[in-house]
Amino acid sequence: MPTKCKAALSISFKEPLLIEEILVDDPRQDEVKINISACGVCHSDVLYIDGAWGGSLPSVFGHEGAGVVDTCGPGVEHIKPGDRVAVSLLKSCGRCYYCQRQLSSQCEYTFATDEPYRLKMLDGTSVNRGLRTGCFAEYAVVHKSQVVKLPDEMNLNSASLLTCGVITGFGSVVNTASIKAGEHVVVVGTGGVGVHCIQGARVSQAATITAVDVSDEKLEFAKRLGATHIVNSTREGVPEAVLEVTQNRGADAVFVATGHPAALDGIFKLIRPGGLLVLVGMPSYGVYFSFETVEFINANYVILGSKMGSSDLKVDIANLIELYESGKLELDALVWSTFPLENINEAIEATRTGVGMRNVVVM
Ligand SMILES: [Zn+2]
Ligand SMILES: [Zn+2]
Repeated sequence: MPTKCKAALSISFKEPLLIEEILVDDPRQDEVKINISACGVCHSDVLYIDGAWGGSLPSVFGHEGAGVVDTCGPGVEHIKPGDRVAVSLLKSCGRCYYCQRQLSSQCEYTFATDEPYRLKMLDGTSVNRGLRTGCFAEYAVVHKSQVVKLPDEMNLNSASLLTCGVITGFGSVVNTASIKAGEHVVVVGTGGVGVHCIQGARVSQAATITAVDVSDEKLEFAKRLGATHIVNSTREGVPEAVLEVTQNRGADAVFVATGHPAALDGIFKLIRPGGLLVLVGMPSYGVYFSFETVEFINANYVILGSKMGSSDLKVDIANLIELYESGKLELDALVWSTFPLENINEAIEATRTGVGMRNVVVM
């Protein structure tokens, strides 16, 4: 029987979400239905809600979920009803060209949960699951590969951040760029993703971690999480500050963890010859980035795109939980505010305007 539950529906772009009852389909082969307890509000949700990335409506967004397994379809072995789990937008078949090449974020398989009729309004209208997840609701149905088991005692508000913000930032440093001990790292943008680039660089034993932002409050928080130097770009020259920290050479790697186009202006001035530019924060469609090609070649620069931290959900979430439990990964302090589902529009506005580190909706 489909489950009747409350969900935050996006009916038209740039408009507040509406709390409505919907029907969530039962899990089929290899699927799981989850009673969602908490869901982080990510900038990607805001971009979709604002229409920056297109897509069809009505839709339920929310892709940083945590909750308790309600029912499992046939073929689900790694979890059972009653287990506490985190839910991600990343799903993988484990068999296709990309899954076999450790790039499961590019999985080619088409999943039954992608069919539009898995969520319905009470009048029968099909509801899209934004970002293939749909966790701004009391229940969600997802593919088993999107679900990772959590320790029984783990706080679900904190755990909800693991499956997007944390893996995206942390994974960009550890997986995509493979930062080594002793390297000099710069992180531009110290919001919900950038702070995890900083934590990834700290755990990787980077020699210096320079955090760049326009908010003193966020920079102070970045320092608490491991930044060795902080630069407020509204007051200080960023290239000068980075050159001073890196013996006038430039950083080994610069992570751009914001989608703000201005963050890329003059970015190569921060990077040493042969160094890496890692693009992590997602902008709207229509944002282009240009550079002097001759200088780029002459300096042997490398640019890497890092989707979701090039993560393998099973492996990376388990590692992150281990780091969290041993006190090496901060999560709890990131949950700045929690909002009941009824007040989700306040959480979205806080995220849109950059208030606090992370805003979490609790069901
Ligand atoms: Zn996200
Ligand atoms: Zn695949």
